[in-house]
Amino acid sequence: MPCDSAAVCVYRGENIFSCKQCGDCCKGYGGTYVSRAEIESIATYIGMDPERFEKKYCTMSGGRMVLSQQESGFCVFWCDRMCDIHPVKPRMCREWPFIRSLLVDPDNWQKMASMCPGIRKEVPAEVVQECVKSMLERKA
Ligand code: SF4
Ligand code: SF4
Repeated sequence: MPCDSAAVCVYRGENIFSCKQCGDCCKGYGGTYVSRAEIESIATYIGMDPERFEKKYCTMSGGRMVLSQQESGFCVFWCDRMCDIHPVKPRMCREWPFIRSLLVDPDNWQKMASMCPGIRKEVPAEVVQECVKSMLERKA
């Protein structure tokens, strides 16, 4: 999920995350969850009725609604190396890579780094958690 997180998280003088705009996080993995409120927000943004939006752009995964994928595996809203719904993209996409679950298990940062070239590896867990808290506060 190409992220525009401000460069507020620095370790030893370098940002711990800098998006390379590769789009890898918009492809595959477990899908992008969307809440009812997010469906309504995105549907409004693209000028579509929420029920129609759900049928056309969403699918169920593990009992939860996710955005559908193109045949290429990319999210249905990934287009020309950009997110077509950037201003209203789901919370998952807005928070990446400073996701809440890192507050519980910061070791996931290393796993995430193996999938996302923008994430700097070898960052101490406490630094990762401080950054997550800081980003979540900024976005609250
Ligand atoms: S909504 Fe946008 S940022 Fe999120 S997965 Fe789809 S294309 Fe990527
Ligand atoms: S995988 Fe990482 S570097 Fe690539 S677009 Fe997503 S957030 Fe940016």
